[in-house]
Amino acid sequence: MKAIQAIRGMKDIPPADTPVWRRLEDAAREVLAGYGYHELRPPVVEKTELFRRSVGEATDIVEKEMYTFADRNGENLTLRPECTASCVRAAIEHGWLRGRGQRLWHIGPMFRYEKPQKGRYRQFHQLDVEALGFPGPDIDAELILLGARLWRRLGLEGLRLEINSLGSREIQASYRNRLVEYLTVHAEDLDEDSQRRLGSNPLRILDSKNPSLRDMLEAAPRIVDHLDAPSRAHFEQLQAMLTASGIEFRVNPRLVRGLDYYTGTVFEWITDALGAQGAVCGGGRYDGLVEEIGGPPTPATGFAVGLERIVALMQAGPEQADAEGPHAYLMAVGEDAVRGAHALAEQLRDAVPNLRLIVDAGPGNFKRKMKSADRSQAELALILGEDEMREQQVTCKRMHDGGEQQRLARPDLIESLSKRVSLSG
Ligand code: ATP
Ligand code: MG
Repeated sequence: MKAIQAIRGMKDIPPADTPVWRRLEDAAREVLAGYGYHELRPPVVEKTELFRRSVGEATDIVEKEMYTFADRNGENLTLRPECTASCVRAAIEHGWLRGRGQRLWHIGPMFRYEKPQKGRYRQFHQLDVEALGFPGPDIDAELILLGARLWRRLGLEGLRLEINSLGSREIQASYRNRLVEYLTVHAEDLDEDSQRRLGSNPLRILDSKNPSLRDMLEAAPRIVDHLDAPSRAHFEQLQAMLTASGIEFRVNPRLVRGLDYYTGTVFEWITDALGAQGAVCGGGRYDGLVEEIGGPPTPATGFAVGLERIVALMQAGPEQADAEGPHAYLMAVGEDAVRGAHALAEQLRDAVPNLRLIVDAGPGNFKRKMKSADRSQAELALILGEDEMREQQVTCKRMHDGGEQQRLARPDLIESLSKRVSLSG
């Protein structure tokens, strides 16, 4: 029979990789706690309407990347392609925005029907960080500092920060006209994708990765030259705060984001180490979004980190020993020992917190179990035979250094295991 395979672009994270993922997630949790952010766990499915209204009709995501389906009741649902909309929806629904700010984060899978390639998948994971109810550039700076701290914490080097300001909705609308005028004059230079976007989402053309458009886009009008006074002041204050905090950045006037809800500050962290998919984190302000999806007027800002790309950077860096292997492999040989093995193992687990112990009370002779013990990479083999059972002892054999072995009474075994576990941390 033909074996069933996973869906294209949706990958298993195998046990060999989960230690790196956990290291990343633990670091993120600790850093976020240090800035007073709280974890939110929204569902992965939302009403399609939520993303249409927030991400925007004329975006790649809504036009062609959403996993949308009708449930058995005919309700139109979507596997979330991003998480800001869900966080905002939850904050409005639970009334968290009344008169106070909310600092939230979430880690989980997102779904986009994109062309799968290195660094781009159909199920991928993001760390999402959102600060709702804060108007000032100080919170944009806080988010950037938090990101920088996470990179340092993970030992990642060479991440560049690019920032831009998209101004208010009004500025965006008038800039859009200017840009369309310019691009229409240069219409023959546009590629097919950009031609299409000229009518629907012209700002996004600035973000085109097509090198043949570069010179023409380089000369296009820049939104930063058309900012209103409040947007300009906000952007300048942000830059001053970053500089005062020792954060290096580049203003990239062509940095726009792929989602419609951004206003004012936008930013990306970029690496050159991953080829084409170099953006590891993107975010910015979305001061209009809460109101647009039915909440009270609420300024807000946030970012999302692509975790697959961070994991790839971590795996390319210096190798880290992840202490995951078992401390001990308990093998029972003989009828009585097989019957008593779990009782002994439970006793050891009671007595030695954090002990990683594998129990082999299955079929097989001594030789076969010894082989399995070796394969398990355990530091110790604990042999429980008929003699040991009778005398309430265990034979303890060191696996990696010549196989020295000794018989231990159970209290001595517990002491020796405790030492080993506290050494391995
Ligand atoms: P890109 O320009 O790489 O398409 P984006 O602008 O669509 O990114 P966002 O929606 O802002 O990305 O998501 C934030 C981050 O999530 C990205 O910077 C990237 O690291 C990651 N990301 C986005 N889409 C994918 C995907 N399909 N597979 C893996 N990671 C992704
Ligand atoms: Mg994208």
